Amino acid sequence: MTGVTGHSAQARQAASDPYPRPRPRPPGVSGGPQGHTGPRRGAAHRAQVRPPSVRDKRAYVRLGPRGVLAVIGLGAAVVIALWWHSTPDVRGLGGWLTGAGEILGLLAGYGVVVLVALMARLPPLERGIGTDRLARWHAMGGRYVVSVVVAHGLLILWGYAVQAHTTVVSETAALLTQYPDVLMATVAGFLLLGVGIVSMRAARRRMSYETWYYLHLYTYLAIALAFSHQFAVGVSFINNLAARFWWSAMYLTVAVLVAWYRVAVPLRAFARHEFTVIGVKAEGPGVISVYIGGRHLDELAAEPGQFFRWRFLTRSLWWSSHPYSLSAAPGSDVMRITVKDLGDHSRSLARLRPGTRVIAEGPYGAFTAADSGRGVLLLAGGVGITPLRAIFATLPGPVTLIYRASSERDIVFRDELDAIAAARGGTVYYVVGSRAEIGGNPLSPRLLRRLVPGLDQHEAYVCGPPGMVAAAVGALRAAGVPRKRIHNESFEF
Ligand SMILES: Cc1cc2nc3c(=O)[nH]c(=O)nc-3n(C[C@H](O)[C@H](O)[C@H](O)COP(=O)(O)OP(=O)(O)OC[C@H]3O[C@@H](n4cnc5c(N)ncnc54)[C@H](O)[C@@H]3O)c2cc1C
Repeated sequence: MTGVTGHSAQARQAASDPYPRPRPRPPGVSGGPQGHTGPRRGAAHRAQVRPPSVRDKRAYVRLGPRGVLAVIGLGAAVVIALWWHSTPDVRGLGGWLTGAGEILGLLAGYGVVVLVALMARLPPLERGIGTDRLARWHAMGGRYVVSVVVAHGLLILWGYAVQAHTTVVSETAALLTQYPDVLMATVAGFLLLGVGIVSMRAARRRMSYETWYYLHLYTYLAIALAFSHQFAVGVSFINNLAARFWWSAMYLTVAVLVAWYRVAVPLRAFARHEFTVIGVKAEGPGVISVYIGGRHLDELAAEPGQFFRWRFLTRSLWWSSHPYSLSAAPGSDVMRITVKDLGDHSRSLARLRPGTRVIAEGPYGAFTAADSGRGVLLLAGGVGITPLRAIFATLPGPVTLIYRASSERDIVFRDELDAIAAARGGTVYYVVGSRAEIGGNPLSPRLLRRLVPGLDQHEAYVCGPPGMVAAAVGALRAAGVPRKRIHNESFEF
């Protein structure tokens, strides 16, 4: 059904919405404040009926994206200063080529540490920057670092050859056989190049996420192999004990952080909270909810909108962890995720048995909502409804949810959303149908402005598949919402 429905709901809206605004509905839009269907019993009920309050944001010292980029840039400047300090003069073409190669080598050595730190699951970064943005920075930075590594090798070879009045080929042989640790570093360089190639979009699309992920782990081996050549042949380190100390401290610190946040913390949480599947419920075609019980879950301080990386300890699933958002605010002993079957992992969750143990890594993500005193628009596409469902139930103030789905069958949580809207005076619109059925852009700026009066004064939260998120952000910008008030999460790293 793609036509206008929900007239009786509109009548209820007048009674329950503090800002009643009866308006004609465009094709494909139904909803508005809905009837209360009553809460469900059991775990589902407990997960969905937390009081409508929002936790205060945790007192992290928040370094925004610009602050973090500034710190990274400052580190790069210090690295160049280190080279400057250790290089009294540069002479001739060979000297310039070698100098450029040395600077790039230092930047590459620093860059790999930054790349690993971005993925170390550091809470202030995860919370302040957001996992999806960190992953984008990591991917982009990875391309730069691999290019810098290749350029470093070529410039050093060329520079040494010019200085030694020999050919690049014989200089290559000399470097590999006579210079300490350079052979290992060369292997490391090729490993990094290989990881860079398999991470390119075209190559990545041809392999499963897990294959790519495990190949990607060779980066750690590459970093270890390349480490010692920096001290053995790097002019900035050979005679500078303090530089060697600080460089080693930088590598060691990041290694400890990775081990702590990616391994120790999840294992400690597993022991403390005893995460266990307590039930699976079908929500719609190809969509299920998994209820995960545990002890002291409030200590996790998970917020609506955040996600965990879930590792279900069955014979076929234990070796991979996947990100799924909380689809209801967590209770003290139960959490809920809702999953659409898009591949092997998501499909197999329907077969989970109660009692399955789970390692839950998180909470992660900066896609959380604070009470800004403004009206709030939540814009969900498909299974992107999951974090917004949790936010919708807890965010105080007037909240409008627009839920875009391809067909009525694809709408999940309809009863819950209507119940939340009725209980809280919120508004839900279902924008259902294909572009052809709706007769135009399903999320046009005009439609958004029509559904949400005063839209340009709202905070907007968008979640869904990457294409939908990009289109919705564009439409919101065109409708006058400033970029800084549009918060979005895409279900893809
Ligand atoms: C922050 C975040 C929150 C998410 N929340 C939800 C949710 O609440 N409900 C839901 O249904 N889906 C959610 N997803 C998407 C979900 O993680 C993927 O659909 C799922 O991992 C697909 O795995 P698969 O093996 O079933 O499919 P595959 O066919 O193997 O993968 C499909 C695509 O999913 C991505 N993907 C696969 N495995 C992983 C992984 N381990 N880590 C990261 N990305 C991966 C890749 O882009 C891949 O191309 C979320 C994704 C992210 C990034």
